[in-house]
Amino acid sequence: MDPTDRQPGAQQLQICVICEIPTSEKLTKVSDVGLETLRTSCEIRHRYNLLEFLSSEPAEVLVHGSCRKSFTRSSELKKIKLQLDYPRERRDLRCASGRFSWETMCFLCACPALSNSDIRLVHRLELGEHLMARCAERADDWAVVVSGRLRGCIDLVAEEAIYHKECHSRFVNGLQCISGVTSFGRP
Ligand SMILES: [Zn+2]
Ligand SMILES: [Zn+2]
Repeated sequence: MDPTDRQPGAQQLQICVICEIPTSEKLTKVSDVGLETLRTSCEIRHRYNLLEFLSSEPAEVLVHGSCRKSFTRSSELKKIKLQLDYPRERRDLRCASGRFSWETMCFLCACPALSNSDIRLVHRLELGEHLMARCAERADDWAVVVSGRLRGCIDLVAEEAIYHKECHSRFVNGLQCISGVTSFGRP
């Protein structure tokens, strides 16, 4: 459509396609590569309207830098995937039983890491060594379970192992496990 044919007031708003809220933040044009990332993020986030718009080869796509960052942040997307997968797998992922999945379960309490909990991804190999040392110090039931689990994993970083921030701080501070406490040793 020729822009001059448009009704007055119908001109396209210069607006961030992600939040659709006009703010004082500067808008930036998304590159082709950026569009691809946005589309992938839309699929994960189930933002189908936006996906449709992005796939319609718009002349330009404007976003806030901050919106794009949080919209495409891989740790956020991972959390969303976990949340979406959870209900489907709920029956199979009983706490502290069944097969352990490094990518979807906290390796400390063995509970599925839900998106509404504070989840951390293991970034440094030293974390595993540090926790093994803690296991030796604690020498309690929880330490035995965790050390057994850690021994079964060669590379926590490569496994994309995750854990609850809360569980980690409880573990290193000598406290008992909260998330898994109801399930430990019980059916
Ligand atoms: Zn925005
Ligand atoms: Zn946990």
